[in-house]
Amino acid sequence: MAVNEMPATCSADALSARELYRFFRAGDEETLALRGVSLRVRRGETVAVVGPSGAGKSTLLACLAGLDEPSGGEVRVDGVRVSHRPETERARLRARHIGVLLQNRNLLPHLSARDNVRLAQRAVRGWPAVPAAELLDRVGLAGRAHALPRQLSGGELARAGLAVALANSPAVLLADEPTGELDGGTEGMILDLLRERAADGCAVLVVTHSSEAVRIADRVITLDDGRVRDADRPADRLADRLEEAHHAAG
Ligand code: ADP
Ligand code: MG
Repeated sequence: MAVNEMPATCSADALSARELYRFFRAGDEETLALRGVSLRVRRGETVAVVGPSGAGKSTLLACLAGLDEPSGGEVRVDGVRVSHRPETERARLRARHIGVLLQNRNLLPHLSARDNVRLAQRAVRGWPAVPAAELLDRVGLAGRAHALPRQLSGGELARAGLAVALANSPAVLLADEPTGELDGGTEGMILDLLRERAADGCAVLVVTHSSEAVRIADRVITLDDGRVRDADRPADRLADRLEEAHHAAG
């Protein structure tokens, strides 16, 4: 099967990872950032990934997105293997099927918000794209379409990044701490947009420290030292715990 074709019958799991390992070597330093992580996200489901700094959350997200190659194990999107392919093939699969919102918001600095969305759409030829203006309107940036990234506030940047992630109506939406430095109002807006995508049948996975983000999740996966410690925990109780920890720390 060609990599740009999807099977006629899709499994309910839009995203699945089996026994992911990721080994890094930098000089003498060796790190096993992922130690056998398996997970599944269904269409219409929102999964939150939590865990301490250095747990491997960003590494996991990069492997799921096909931005990085796992050292072992396999990632599938709609049943199609994304991992262990040349970078050009991964990029093509990613452009069409996976929306990614990274901490740096993945926007090109010299392009306006609208042109960043259009660039993402140009990567997928022949796919009926939602007009860039409509996507920006959806994230509340209709009036900022011509602004460059440096002219946008933190909250606007996050929303522009989300418009780029949604440019090709992906089956899977992955977000790495999308509400990290945002005020409550902007966080609520981003979370509403994620929830809307899930309601539309997208599989949403969000790495987060935010109790609000955990609250909108159907399931929570806790990652610690590269391993899944706690899968399928009821989201409500964990959100309360995160909030308590936050108050205790602050
Ligand atoms: P988290 O997002 O949960 O804070 P990361 O996935 O960023 O954790 O990092 C997990 C571990 O992998 C850390 O020990 C980090 O130092 C290491 N790591 C991540 N990326 C690299 C890299 N490119 N080279 C070497 N080590 C890395
Ligand atoms: Mg991280």
